[in-house]
Amino acid sequence: MHPAALAVEHLCPDIGGPRLRILITGGAGFLGVHLCKALLSRGNEVVAVDNFVTSSRNSIEQLTTSPDFTFIEGDVCANLPMEGEFDAIAHLACPASPNDYLRFPLETLATGSHGSEFVIQAAQKSSCRVVLASTSEVYGDPLQKPQREEYWGNVNPVGPRSVYDESKRYAEALFMAHRRTEKINTGIARIFNTYGPGLRPDDGRVVSRFIAQALRGEPLTVYGNGSQTRSFCYVTDLVEGFIRMLESNEPGPINLGNPDEISIIKLARMILTLTGSSSPLRFLPALEDDPAIRKPDIAKAKALLDWEPIVSLGEGLALTIAWQRDLFTRTTTAQTK
Ligand code: NAD
Ligand code: UDP
Repeated sequence: MHPAALAVEHLCPDIGGPRLRILITGGAGFLGVHLCKALLSRGNEVVAVDNFVTSSRNSIEQLTTSPDFTFIEGDVCANLPMEGEFDAIAHLACPASPNDYLRFPLETLATGSHGSEFVIQAAQKSSCRVVLASTSEVYGDPLQKPQREEYWGNVNPVGPRSVYDESKRYAEALFMAHRRTEKINTGIARIFNTYGPGLRPDDGRVVSRFIAQALRGEPLTVYGNGSQTRSFCYVTDLVEGFIRMLESNEPGPINLGNPDEISIIKLARMILTLTGSSSPLRFLPALEDDPAIRKPDIAKAKALLDWEPIVSLGEGLALTIAWQRDLFTRTTTAQTK
């Protein structure tokens, strides 16, 4: 265990054990909804906060039927009044798709800084564990592979992606500083590209976008020559890892991701095969500062959280394609009625 973990007074209870009250910021987002569902299914009470900047009320419809689920609409930067105390807090609020954070640059910076400060204060008030959903983007355009937590990264502080990268790097610094000075039980999970059912087809992230394009028979838009790589983690694997981080007292940072690396052009071809689509590929100019490689080293997650992903890319893509296909059928049927 990291020495800083030993200094923390408030040890985290077992989320699979007695019923706990857990706050999830960004609870209406892609990962937030999956996390809410998983925690509710383990018998916990969940309070979710979201301002719908990159999600919609529809996404939480499936949760609001549970008597153990409470939703608070609002911005984490506004220091929302929260009733009662929490046993654990998961801080997920933040636009995550490059499309979204480039549309909301100032909001993204504010959420990582002021928003994170208020979330830590809420943890302090409840004397509870708080885990930040950080990102592999803190490594920027990495010069090392695989990326280990000890690597400090290669971030352009003034490039377009810096609004996301630097807001998460600041949030990480904030979490560590509060841990050191106030002994708050903070944790940092560095999440790598995650996909699965629930990812909005128009959200811009590559998996849902390529599947949407393939199903519509439109060209798959490949930025650059498609040689850049990512390592995609299926959402149920990621949520399991995040819950283990929440249950532990580990300070992190700990990488959570699937080390199975693939180039974007290979991903495009795989999605064409799995959807049976004959869409062509359309090559567009490379994005500014787009990381050329990304692959997590997950030795720490394995050793400290006893976690590793179990869903292969083929299995996960098949499940995601089935979900998106069903969504398209329902949307098209509703439009033709
Ligand atoms: P998402 O955009 O689907 O969800 C983010 C949610 O946060 C949205 O519902 C949005 O409305 C909400 N939000 C944003 N700013 C807010 C604010 N100021 N106040 C209240 N709510 C706010 O993204 P996601 O994929 O679910 O990502 C969740 C978290 O995980 C993010 O913090 C992201 O940085 C991190 N992460 C995700 C991935 C991934 O591949 N999905 C990878 C790395 C890190
Ligand atoms: N990408 C692409 N075409 C698209 C969307 C994304 O080629 O229509 C590429 C993008 O350039 C990046 C990778 O896919 O190299 C992953 O992009 P995404 O936006 O999903 O996430 P990122 O890892 O960049 O945050």
